[in-house]
Amino acid sequence: MAKNRSQSESPTDTLTTSSQPNHSPADNVSAMSAADKALVMALQQFNAVADTIGLDDDTRRQLASCQRELIVHFPVRMDNGRLDLFTGFRVHHNTVKGPSKGGIRYHPAVTLDECRALAMWMTWKCSLMNLPYGGAKGGVIVDPKQLSLHELERLTRRYATEISPFIGPERDIPAPDVGTNAQIMAWMMDTYSMHKGYSIPAIITGKPVSIGGTAGREYATGLGVTYITRAVLKQRFGRSLDDIAVAIQGFGNVGSWTARTMHERGARVVAVSDVQGGIYNRRGLDLRQLGHHMDEHKTVVGFPGADPLTNQELLQLDVDVLVPAALEGQIHAENAAGIRAPIIAEGANGPTTPEADAILNDMGVTVIPDILCNAGGVVVSYFEWVQGLQSFFWDESEVRRSMEKTLLDNLDAVVGATVRYKCGLRTAAYTIAISRIVDATRLRGIYP
Ligand code: GLU
Repeated sequence: MAKNRSQSESPTDTLTTSSQPNHSPADNVSAMSAADKALVMALQQFNAVADTIGLDDDTRRQLASCQRELIVHFPVRMDNGRLDLFTGFRVHHNTVKGPSKGGIRYHPAVTLDECRALAMWMTWKCSLMNLPYGGAKGGVIVDPKQLSLHELERLTRRYATEISPFIGPERDIPAPDVGTNAQIMAWMMDTYSMHKGYSIPAIITGKPVSIGGTAGREYATGLGVTYITRAVLKQRFGRSLDDIAVAIQGFGNVGSWTARTMHERGARVVAVSDVQGGIYNRRGLDLRQLGHHMDEHKTVVGFPGADPLTNQELLQLDVDVLVPAALEGQIHAENAAGIRAPIIAEGANGPTTPEADAILNDMGVTVIPDILCNAGGVVVSYFEWVQGLQSFFWDESEVRRSMEKTLLDNLDAVVGATVRYKCGLRTAAYTIAISRIVDATRLRGIYP
C-alpha cells in the first residue's frame, strides 16, 4: 500500500478554473503510477475520436481540459489524539449537459490527474446514457481500511465541508466509487444538510434507502454489467449466461454484485480476486460461503475449496467472460496478448489501456467498454436524484426495469454505430458520447 501522501502536501486550498489544457506531455509515461496513466489513457481515447470526427482544434482543447478543479487539504483528529492532514480533490470535467455527476474515491493512490481522467469518463458515460449531466469525480488520498469508523466519519464530514461550495443538487452530485459506500454518502448528505439548515437528499446519490436513497442502487452497477454482458453474449455468440465461465478481477461493490447477479442467472464464477490475490475453482465458487469468508477475513484469499492464483493469472484464465472490476490500466500492452477470454466486460473505469485495446481488437476479443458496461450505477443514481427532487419514490422492479431498458437501448445504439462506422464497441460508444458533447458545446456557444 502506498503511504498516505497527505502530510507532505502544502496545506493551502486552491480553487482553480483551468484556462490551459490540464495535461502535460506524456513523455515519461513509464515512470507514472497507474492512477496518473489514467489521464494519458483518457486523452489518447479522446484524441483518437477527435481525429476520426475531424474535431476542430478549439473544441478539442476545450474538451481535453477540465472545467473546474478543487484541491483541499484538511485536518482530521485521529482516535489517538493526533492531528493528521489529508488531501482531497473534486474535479468537474464538463457541465455542458447539466450538473456534473460522479463518484468519490477513497484510495491511497488517488491523484488529481486520476480524478481528471475519471471525470472525463463520467462526461462520456452520462452522454452515452443520455442523462442530463456532465462529468465529475472526487477523491481523498487515504486507505479507508486503516481508519476506525469514527475517523472515517470525521474525515468524510470535513471533506464534505471543504468541497461544499463546489457541489449542490443543481450543481454537482457526488456518489460512491472505489473505497466509499452508502454510509459515507449518508454522512456527506447529513453534513451538507446541516450547513444549509434543512435536509437536501438530492445532493448525493448512493445513499441508504431509509434517508432518500433509491431501491436498487446498491447492486446497480454489477447488475448492469450482467444485463449488458448477457445481451452481448446472445447477440454475438448466440449463448445465454447458463454455464458460462466468468473470472472477475476486484471484489468490491462492482465485482461482488457482478458475481452474484451472473451466478443467479446460471453463470459459473470460477475466479475472483482482490488486492491481496485471487482464488480459482474450475467448477465454480460457492458465493454464499465466500460471503461468509469475506465477512470474517476481509479478503477472498484463503477461501477453502479454491486454489490460490495471482491477479495476473486471473486475467489470463481460459474463461468465457473476463470482468476487470478493480482499477484503471490493469490490461495493458504487456499482458493483453495472454488474454484468453473472448469477452471482456469492463466493470471498472478505464481497465484497458489503448495499446491493449488495439492488441485485443486484432485478436478478435469483444471488449464491452466501461462507459457502456458499468453505466448501470450512474443510471440508477440519476433515478435516485429524480426521485429525491420529486419526493416521489419508485418500487424496486420499476428501477430495475428502467435501468435495463436504458442500458439495452443504448447498447443497440452502440451496436448500430459499429455497423455504420465499421468499428469496435469502444470506438462506437466513445464516438456517440463525444459527438453529443461536441454538438451541445456548439449549440450553447461561448460565454461571454
Ligand atoms: N462511481 C460510479 C461510476 O464511476 C457511479 C457514479 C454516480 O453514480 O454518479 O460510474
